[in-house]
Amino acid sequence: MTKRIIVTGGAGYIGSHVCVDLLGAGASVLIIDNLSNAHEEAVRRIGELAPGGIEFLRRDLADPAHRRDIIDAVAAFRPDGAVHLAGLKAVGESVAEPARYYRVNIGATLTLIDALEAAQARTMVFSSSATVYGDANPNPVGEDAATAPANPYGRTKYVIEEMLKDLARSKASEPGAAWRIANLRYFNPVGAHPSGRIGEDPNGVPNNLFPFIAQVAVGRRDRLSIFGDDYPTRDGSGVRDYIHVCDLARGHTAALDYLGGAAAPHVVDINLGAGRGYSVFEAVAAFKRASNRDIPYMVAPRRDGDIAEIYANAERAQRLLGWRAEKTIDDMCADHWRWQSANPEGYRS
Ligand code: UDP
Repeated sequence: MTKRIIVTGGAGYIGSHVCVDLLGAGASVLIIDNLSNAHEEAVRRIGELAPGGIEFLRRDLADPAHRRDIIDAVAAFRPDGAVHLAGLKAVGESVAEPARYYRVNIGATLTLIDALEAAQARTMVFSSSATVYGDANPNPVGEDAATAPANPYGRTKYVIEEMLKDLARSKASEPGAAWRIANLRYFNPVGAHPSGRIGEDPNGVPNNLFPFIAQVAVGRRDRLSIFGDDYPTRDGSGVRDYIHVCDLARGHTAALDYLGGAAAPHVVDINLGAGRGYSVFEAVAAFKRASNRDIPYMVAPRRDGDIAEIYANAERAQRLLGWRAEKTIDDMCADHWRWQSANPEGYRS
């Protein structure tokens, strides 16, 4: 791939892996990140893992005072398109501060749209989420399943998807001005680059299962709380579709290739999942095997808003992108553990 790609949120957990994959495929990247939940050290390590054309602009896409700078920098970079990952992503926080979530997530997207319009680079891969689906769909969940996000965070993803669809429709018949957009609906990204140099480094107490397990395994936390063992699942705990972050990253590169092709639609929703589910107990057992550490846990009440079981129908990604998840749950745990044990305090280690 000889492309020039803007990566918003490129210093974050998923973004750093996306950058490594794009650079490895021969692309040049301009990362735009305000480092609100990321570290400049990640940018340095991306360059270490995948030397090549990497530039970094520390700006906030949601800050009107940074808008001009961003539009100018994007135009100067002469991009072919963007991967848009910048945004706030903590479900609990979004319930407490919905206005901030809408302002930041939607505002950042609008600035990026304007910058891409100005640069005449109307190709975008958007970081969406399986949280856009409702909780009553039969598994596996395909892209045409009912949408009904359960919290403000999920609704920002949904609203942005809809906004991008309106945008794609508005210019669909204008020669040379048409957008090509892929909404990638992530299931549960986990793991880390196999080098152990980049990985997830959450602020404060992790909300998600894998970073929590990893911090228990490394001794930063005493025990895991398993949120419910009385769901109608095979062992009573919640079942999710965990996907290795490197597989997920490859999906972005494949989506950009697809959008650059002659047959690409103006806008498309695509699940990125492994297509099978693991329970919390199964994930804990796999992490224990990979780390050779004890993972003390207690069973706690169900967490508000959680559903019993969800996993992807990943056939569309296979058909359109020629992409499928390849790494196993044992790879996810081994790589997550390598990162956590080599960087017990994350990038501050
Ligand atoms: N979970 C848990 N303990 C935790 C965090 C998560 O038992 O400390 C469970 C949660 O109830 C769900 C699964 O692990 O069944 C995945 O949760 P996560 O927050 O990682 O992802 P999401 O709920 O967004 O799918």
